[in-house]
Amino acid sequence: MNGPTNKRIEKASTHPSQNEGLIFEKSSPGKRAFELPPLDVPDANASSALGKHFRADGVSGFPEVSEIEVVRHFTRLSTWNYAIDLGMYPLGSCTMKYNPRVNEFVARLDGIASEHPYQPDELSQGCLKILQLLEKCLLEITGMDAITLQPAAGAQGELTGLLLIRSYLERQGNPRKKVLIPDSAHGTNPATAVIAGYEVENIKSESHGQIDVEKLRDLVTEEVAALMITNPSTLGIFEERIPEIAQILHAKGALLYMDGANMNALTGIARPGDLGVDVMHLNLHKTFSTPHGGGGPGAGPVAMKKILEPFKPVPVLVEKGDGKLALDSNRPDSIGKVRAFTGNFGVLVRALAYILAYGSGVRQATEDAVLNANYIRKGLEGVYDLPYSLPSLHEVVFSDAIQKRNGGVNTMDIAKRLIDYGFHPYTTAFPLIVPGALMIEPTESESKEECDLFIQAMKSIAEEAAQDPEFVKHAPHTTRVSRLDEVTAARKPILRWNPAGASKAAR
Ligand SMILES: *Cc1c(COP(=O)(O)O)cnc(C)c1O
Repeated sequence: MNGPTNKRIEKASTHPSQNEGLIFEKSSPGKRAFELPPLDVPDANASSALGKHFRADGVSGFPEVSEIEVVRHFTRLSTWNYAIDLGMYPLGSCTMKYNPRVNEFVARLDGIASEHPYQPDELSQGCLKILQLLEKCLLEITGMDAITLQPAAGAQGELTGLLLIRSYLERQGNPRKKVLIPDSAHGTNPATAVIAGYEVENIKSESHGQIDVEKLRDLVTEEVAALMITNPSTLGIFEERIPEIAQILHAKGALLYMDGANMNALTGIARPGDLGVDVMHLNLHKTFSTPHGGGGPGAGPVAMKKILEPFKPVPVLVEKGDGKLALDSNRPDSIGKVRAFTGNFGVLVRALAYILAYGSGVRQATEDAVLNANYIRKGLEGVYDLPYSLPSLHEVVFSDAIQKRNGGVNTMDIAKRLIDYGFHPYTTAFPLIVPGALMIEPTESESKEECDLFIQAMKSIAEEAAQDPEFVKHAPHTTRVSRLDEVTAARKPILRWNPAGASKAAR
């Protein structure tokens, strides 16, 4: 935007409701958010009462502001974020579903929120029962024999899983050298394999987007420890031959690891344990609705077959003869601890609340997630290029090939323009095997109306891209800050808000 319009926008955006500064910049000496009545008892000297060690003379640089300033500051900032509470968040691979409020209610109950992990087991029976019940539910959902709730996220679950495999193979006499990973995998898979001490060997997908099983047959040797497979894959496509894949591995003494980040496509319908998977992780913060994004706490439980159970991280939840629960750390074969205590308890509670609230309805949630993804796929077929044409499960991956050809608009431009239409962008440029990917995962949370709005927005952007590519390349146009130079923003972040400078830089 240029000229008078730009000037008018700048003039109107000087109010802090448009351009909130730092709270430190609002500080003015002597302002406070409260006032206490005058003392009606003798003034005690805090330094001598508490000891000098506990008494600071003051906190330098601490903002001095009134109550309404604090409230407005944080309320304004809270409205600058896009959130699932505002609208659809179709970030593929992330399963940004709605987090029912009942989960929060339960996680905040007295006796759940305020328990201390150092409290003795006898006084923690309720919390341990919560963990036990969650373990049972997740075992039922995955069809596995044993589980640890400890890992803090999917990636840490992967590492835990591979360390279990490594310990098991070491016990057989040889930890082996390689882990096979398909080219559609999430980046955490190869990173995990390397950290667990393995070489990574890539497997190409065949033209339908599934693993090339004949190729796999050649690659699985006595050097291979495991295959890490994501099912459904990051293309949103179900690996139909997974039992056969498991057989090929098992015949050579290798194990099958399943990245379960996409369990939103299987929960209540298919159980990886029944398909031949030996070990897998779940992302409770994806499939089981705990709030995520922004680096908050997560949970990546690892479910496994019996052969891996002896190596589980400690402490292990056990039921004693009298029916009481306890945490047992006396496990000589354990890989050790992967996280403090029993993991991120608050996240585990939320996941259990979600599972119990839905009950057998988790199957319906899965079916709706798959329906929504296919509805969007059908709605945008022909408008955007579909590199893999098998039916989608929980997510659908388009490419920007059509738009790139007619005007040079790419997936990032389309994603930025989507912000103007009130949606969070989809995942751009992932999975890597699709050049210019648009990865869309609506989840079951969205109504038909919201999916229709999304489809309309995407169609309208495709029209804009054909008629006025430059306009789309400079999106977003309606946000406080327009297109950032993302490389510079990451390398040289400007953390201090300067309305004059920022508006110049942004427009
Ligand atoms: C999200 C994701 C991961 C990593 O999980 P985190 O909880 O973010 O560590 C791994 N694999 C796939 C397929 C994912 O979508």
